[in-house]
Amino acid sequence: MADDNCVFCRISEGLDSSTVLEVENDEFVIFQDIKPASQHHYLAVTKKHYASLKDLNKSHDSLVSRMEIALKDLLASKGVSVDDALFGFHLPPFITVKHLHMHAISPRTQMTFLSKLIFRPSVWFKPVDEARFYLSQKE
Ligand SMILES: [Zn+2]
Ligand SMILES: [Zn+2]
Repeated sequence: MADDNCVFCRISEGLDSSTVLEVENDEFVIFQDIKPASQHHYLAVTKKHYASLKDLNKSHDSLVSRMEIALKDLLASKGVSVDDALFGFHLPPFITVKHLHMHAISPRTQMTFLSKLIFRPSVWFKPVDEARFYLSQKE
């Protein structure tokens, strides 16, 4: 399902030599966001190309859980706060790369004003719990 023109497809396939993959498994990879919103900012990106959360449904709940757990484990392994962290997804049209990615940002309390706006729970950003509720409503 890879799209040659999609930067996250290339990264998740290990084709972008400038991106260090912190985590890699059969379903997704995790790497640092190139525009960090706080001291630590990682993205979990699926290997399969989904344009956004809107392409997922109920059946993807466990995938979302595994992405969240992997991000939390990575933060913890680096000694970064998991409690003062924000996890979630952007929704179209407020997405810079149109390939599903979960953000993990920590510490949440030290995000800049602009970042707080970009990642504010809203119509354009769904924290992971809201994202899972949204998926649970979809067939
Ligand atoms: Zn893609
Ligand atoms: Zn995003």
